[in-house]
Amino acid sequence: EKKPKIVILGAGYGGMMTASRLQKSNAHRDADITLVNKHNYHYQTTWLHEPAAGTLHHDKTRMKIDSVIDTNKIQFIKDSVVEIKKDEKKVILEKGELDYDYLVIGLGSEPETFGIPGVTENAFSIRSVNSVRLIREHIEYMFASYNKQDEKHEDVLTFVVAGAGFTGIEFVGELSERIPELCKEYDIAREKVKVYSVEAAPSALPGFDEELVEYAMNLLESRGVEFKINTPIKEVQDGRVLLADGEEIKAQTIVWTTGIRGSSIIENSGFETMRGRVKVDKDLRAPDHDDVFIIGDCALIINEEINRPYPPTAQIAIQQAYTCSNNIKALIEGKTELEEFKPDIKGTVASLGGKEAIGLVGDRKLYGNSASAVKKLIDNRYLFLLGGMPLVLKKGKLNLF
Ligand code: FAD
Ligand code: NAD
Repeated sequence: EKKPKIVILGAGYGGMMTASRLQKSNAHRDADITLVNKHNYHYQTTWLHEPAAGTLHHDKTRMKIDSVIDTNKIQFIKDSVVEIKKDEKKVILEKGELDYDYLVIGLGSEPETFGIPGVTENAFSIRSVNSVRLIREHIEYMFASYNKQDEKHEDVLTFVVAGAGFTGIEFVGELSERIPELCKEYDIAREKVKVYSVEAAPSALPGFDEELVEYAMNLLESRGVEFKINTPIKEVQDGRVLLADGEEIKAQTIVWTTGIRGSSIIENSGFETMRGRVKVDKDLRAPDHDDVFIIGDCALIINEEINRPYPPTAQIAIQQAYTCSNNIKALIEGKTELEEFKPDIKGTVASLGGKEAIGLVGDRKLYGNSASAVKKLIDNRYLFLLGGMPLVLKKGKLNLF
């Protein structure tokens, strides 16, 4: 009898955890399972602000896929997905193609530019190991360049972070920790360096607990970060950012963190999307496509209590992987009753660099060192779910305090 073919696209939080759960439940005995990813490693997107600023080596945030997944049980293909031909049940890769009976899409996100001119050409983004290595190298190069100039151009040491959502704030936190070290290394006075956090909304971290936002802003300001709140960016040019209020900031480093949209592969493959994300059914399948599951940043799910989409997070992607793998297992066993996905949001914790963080867990507010320790525990917990204690010991954040 022919085994059903299961293809998982993307080895991020969603895809990697789905593969790992299917392996643990021995689903490979009843199905041919294939995982496809651009790289031969898995990285933790939620840690990327650290290697971007250079406060953590990027190897800490990644692991070889075959060090976690048994490739005798789950076939791994290192290739890039180009298109999904859902009506032919086929995936087109750069170097080949695959047929499937069931597909899991976990291709993650792309930066949201809102069509603002110049962003793609002139700004960096925090989205992969390759993109953050470039940011780290560029920042260091700016410091190295400064003293080399006869006439000093201050824009070489001006850093603009566009958007003060969680990604922007976490990156600014790391950057403001790194700058004093770079100043020391390159003999530059701290006052020469400018870091701007530019936010369109009336507050940084719009919608988050006000007290915690104030704590974060005060802390970052004390490290020399200048906030420009209520100030949408309207254009990015080579070496400058134009603000809606008419002001311009000259900066040789612009990091774009104004939010995300789902992988463009999904809309280019003819799925109906909102900001690149598919509003999935309760069992995580795409509407009208019983054979396609969509998880993580590519999926849109509504918080019915407030009738708005849940923000896309790793927390949700991981939980969806559990439901998705259970549902695939059920389908290959011939069951028709599938599990409904119910997110169980434990809270939000954001790092601010060094041993600082803020968090809201249940109704408990966390600040400073204790928040930072909880953040590391969350990072370690994921490693534990994926690869048990050995992976925690190898890649985890073991210095909690
Ligand atoms: P990802 O984990 O991004 O994985 C997508 C995978 O698909 C990648 O491995 C990529 O290489 C691969 N891929 C993409 N395109 C292709 C292609 N064409 N072909 C083959 N492979 C491809 N969320 C939290 O819950 N808590 C946090 O503290 C938190 N912190 C964050 C900090 C930062 C700096 C950022 C940027 C995000 C953070 N998030 C956090 C959000 C979280 O990272 C995402 O929601 C989560 O990564 C989504 O998981 P995913 O599986 O959908 O995508
Ligand atoms: P986001 O959408 O949460 O924040 C983007 C910010 O950019 C918003 O505050 C928005 O007002 C601002 N913005 C939009 N257009 C702008 C413009 N033209 N000029 C200036 N500012 C502008 O996006 P994100 O921070 O990239 O986060 C993406 C997802 O990842 C979110 O769901 C977030 O919750 C999650 N995340 C979570 C954590 C954490 O839990 N610690 C950390 C990072 C990201």
